[in-house]
Amino acid sequence: MNRVVIHYHEVALKRGNRPAFVSRLVDNIGRTLRWTGVKRIRALPGRIVVNLTPQADWPQISRRLPWVFGIANYALAWRTECTIEAITACAVAAITGREFATFGVRTTRSAKTFALTSPEINRIVGSAVQAECPARVDLDDPELTINIEVLGREAFVSLGRQPGPGGLPVGSSGTVLALISGGIDSPVAAMRMMRRGCRVAFVHFHGAPYQDRTSRDKVVELVRVLTRHQCESRLHLVSFGDIQRQIVAAVPRPFRVVLYRRMMMRIAETLARSIGAEALVTGESLGQVASQTLANLTVTAAATSLPLLRPLIGMDKAEISAQAERLGTFEISIQPDQDCCQLFVPRHPATRMRLEEAQAAEQGLAISTMVQQAMESVEVEKFTFPDEGVSCIERTAQIGMS
Ligand code: ATP
Ligand code: MG
Repeated sequence: MNRVVIHYHEVALKRGNRPAFVSRLVDNIGRTLRWTGVKRIRALPGRIVVNLTPQADWPQISRRLPWVFGIANYALAWRTECTIEAITACAVAAITGREFATFGVRTTRSAKTFALTSPEINRIVGSAVQAECPARVDLDDPELTINIEVLGREAFVSLGRQPGPGGLPVGSSGTVLALISGGIDSPVAAMRMMRRGCRVAFVHFHGAPYQDRTSRDKVVELVRVLTRHQCESRLHLVSFGDIQRQIVAAVPRPFRVVLYRRMMMRIAETLARSIGAEALVTGESLGQVASQTLANLTVTAAATSLPLLRPLIGMDKAEISAQAERLGTFEISIQPDQDCCQLFVPRHPATRMRLEEAQAAEQGLAISTMVQQAMESVEVEKFTFPDEGVSCIERTAQIGMS
């Protein structure tokens, strides 16, 4: 029966916490591979082995594993007894029917008690392969690598290794709340935090009743794509149009966008605290637009006492766009929409606001009432992967907010 052997990298460095990280990774692999024919998942020393049923859908498995953060690489593998005869026979059977001009055998031995050393195993298996096919040995850049992993009571033979996404398993670094617009940047920012092991909840501010549903529809599609990486997501939709109107009525025109952002921060903080998220995340990148100058980013961050994480801060748009393409969100993000930040925006926004100016401009606003008004408007959409679609919509009262 086939297996998948999965290696991790960064998780391996975690010493004392390693069992918890590995068990999180095992869990995440199991959930991501649901309904693909997985029989059992075992954490063995230094690797995870997935036992597959005879009907397992390998193309689907191989499509999904690159979504599981924490995986360094993976390969389809065969299990065999831990004797040189069995290992050699298994390697020869594995290459039968394959065409390749060059190959290399790489052995790792976690059972140091095995009678042969790794180079000796490489040599014996290599000669057996050459007896079966005309391929040449090339240890630097082989067309086919035969990996042999010798454990205590069993061994695994696999051909080639596919790269995984790296990072840490989602759920190992706590929960954060990502502010997601329909743009290119914020989905990438959320993904980068997942890759650092965070479970990400989402909040989107929409311009209802002054704008149509295009931004929320896009965000629903974006969160659906992002959910592949964490199997479950919650998107909180906040009605922001009326709050923006109150800001517009009370503050100088050039300050509007930064003051929208400060209000988003306050609402997001309240929401984060109510759902147990420990930090906020945005897709801001230094200097990208007027609201993201160093001065304006500072004034924005001052509106929240939660840590504000900006994983894209040092990246340019081309780098972010390339990541969005790999993530699968780029095509969704470039669809036109009505984003709430475009509502009532001035032609010449302030690029160097000072905190005192922001605070003075906010004097006339009933901030806590506005935050409460926003919280009362929250709708939650729940996503699961493998896809059961958007499964429920709850109102604020049902998610335990006062
Ligand atoms: P993005 O592609 O993420 O929209 P952007 O270049 O359009 O980025 P801005 O519109 O200035 O940047 O937004 C900066 C950040 O503020 C976004 O990355 C996002 O985290 C947050 N943000 C902006 N608009 C919204 C919104 N409507 N709802 C939630 N968060 C938002
Ligand atoms: Mg935007």
